[in-house]
Amino acid sequence: MIDGSLTRKAQKQLYKAAREFKLDTNLLKILEKPMRTLKVSIPIKLDNGKTKVFTGFRCQYNNAIGPTKGGVRYHPNVSEDEVVALAAWMTWKCALLDLPYGGAKGGIICDPTKLSEAELERLTRRYTTEIMPILGPHIDIPAPDVYTTSKTMAWIMDTFSMFKGYTEPSIVTGKPEILGGSKGRKEATGKGLAIITREFFKAQKKSLKGAKIAVQGFGNVGGHAALFLSKMGATVVAASDASGCLVNPGGLDIPRLMECVEKYACIIKHPGKQIHRDELLFQDVDVLIPAALEDQIHKNNASKIKAKVIVEGANGPITPEGDEILEKRGVDVIPDILANAGGVVVSHLEWVQALSGLYWEEEQVNAELERKMVKAFKQVWDKATKRKVTLRCAAYLAAIERIAEVYRYRGLFP
Ligand code: GLU
Repeated sequence: MIDGSLTRKAQKQLYKAAREFKLDTNLLKILEKPMRTLKVSIPIKLDNGKTKVFTGFRCQYNNAIGPTKGGVRYHPNVSEDEVVALAAWMTWKCALLDLPYGGAKGGIICDPTKLSEAELERLTRRYTTEIMPILGPHIDIPAPDVYTTSKTMAWIMDTFSMFKGYTEPSIVTGKPEILGGSKGRKEATGKGLAIITREFFKAQKKSLKGAKIAVQGFGNVGGHAALFLSKMGATVVAASDASGCLVNPGGLDIPRLMECVEKYACIIKHPGKQIHRDELLFQDVDVLIPAALEDQIHKNNASKIKAKVIVEGANGPITPEGDEILEKRGVDVIPDILANAGGVVVSHLEWVQALSGLYWEEEQVNAELERKMVKAFKQVWDKATKRKVTLRCAAYLAAIERIAEVYRYRGLFP
């Protein structure tokens, strides 16, 4: 962990916005802490016959607006601290996008690349069973995140349904279409990010055509963001993942790169010039998209960034110290809670479809995604311009204003 605990960083961002907004200190006392975090032991039988006990979490940060919503990640770096911070960000993200949700996040400490499919299935099913007391379509709705996929969601849905005795498709989002998943959900985060980037260029009266882009983390989010941005006329000149980094000043062939990653799960199997993956952040580009993990840009490297704007595909890729350096240097940052919100926007549409049993065509899903993203961008941009604050601060203001309004009507129980 760089520059302190992740929860502390999430709190620092909240305090900054709270000062600007002059948020009621009593409300801040509620919002600075998670509502509940469940820590569970997950014993499973490995393929070799031995038992291994994993540790998992589910944090439901705040449910003032509605049922809590957020992904589940499988990664060796998962911790209670990380899950709480990510759940806080989901709370602000859902509030900013005007979704009827609070925020949550879950995770299991594991290296999913070292587990077989059968082991991952047992791990997912047992984790679901352990967090069952706090799950439900009107309580808390999981979704995919780092190293979890539509298949993981299918196992969660099946496990929940088996316990209930009926099929419950609205318990998760990001599931396969055949089980009630939404068209367009897989691409949604990357597509939303491309829409936000396009709107940012438009607001600055600049063209995306020929803008140079570097993408850190060529997974589902980074890959789709690169695809849609290149379709909009931008040139993706560098892309990295855990295996390495590919560069091409003339522009990488994104559809072929995606095919390669789909097949081999690693970018460097694709032919082309390679550089060290740590160099990706410092490429001479217009737009940098960190779409890997948190804490990538910090006090020790923020001054070396050459991009004019950073669009946060990952959650929390810049530390508050890194943020300050970038602000002083005049580098714009489009914050995670806006830039990567496309996923949860379509998750909401998926939940609505599953609850109603009426399924939408992809055009309808995409039109709603476009509408929501453009509206949220405008709100954040106008606020930032009017108050002369960063886009992150403006996004927090918009989110907190909505939550504060909800508390004003609901009051504090009892
Ligand atoms: N894990 C994604 C995120 O961080 C999606 C969450 C969801 O769809 O509920 O926004």
